[in-house]
Amino acid sequence: MELEIQILNAEFACRCCGECCSGNDNEVMVSPDEIDLLCEATNLTLDQIAEPYPEWINDQGATFTFGRVLRRGEDGNCMFLKNNRCTVYEHRPHICRTYPFMLDGDRLLVFECSGCKSGEPTPDAELIARDLLARREAEDKEFLLTKEQYQKHSMVMGSTIIFDSRGAHQHK
Ligand code: SF4
Ligand code: SF4
Repeated sequence: MELEIQILNAEFACRCCGECCSGNDNEVMVSPDEIDLLCEATNLTLDQIAEPYPEWINDQGATFTFGRVLRRGEDGNCMFLKNNRCTVYEHRPHICRTYPFMLDGDRLLVFECSGCKSGEPTPDAELIARDLLARREAEDKEFLLTKEQYQKHSMVMGSTIIFDSRGAHQHK
């Protein structure tokens, strides 16, 4: 309830400006489950939809990263943004569902965007609160399972690996 009140007080109403889906600094992390949903909805493959998280780590002669992000077009916009609209709206990832909100533990963070401070209480605050809790649960689970995969993996010199909750994947 407290969370819902904080969301109401943020006075957020999306203006559909598309800014959060545009530009090179908006990396949208996607879990394997979310990628599955998008593959099913679009008939695209994992590699067509997502690329490795671009911060690579070098250790023990191997190169690796954790997780994947949605691919972007040459304009830097999310590949699913067309005419400022999300073409996979029903299947969009948790990050997109909850923007501009995020939970840091129990603390609500609100990123400034043109929909904030609209002058009216946030509509759908209850739904956003539910989505935020679902996102936190999914992200915590993904983090722990990915950590397990990393800890049990023996690095091979010269390999390039993407770790996620389902395993250690050789990057081609
Ligand atoms: S969430 Fe904010 S930045 Fe994104 S489309 Fe809505 S108003 Fe624009
Ligand atoms: S999936 Fe949709 S909501 Fe998410 S960044 Fe891409 S266009 Fe925006």
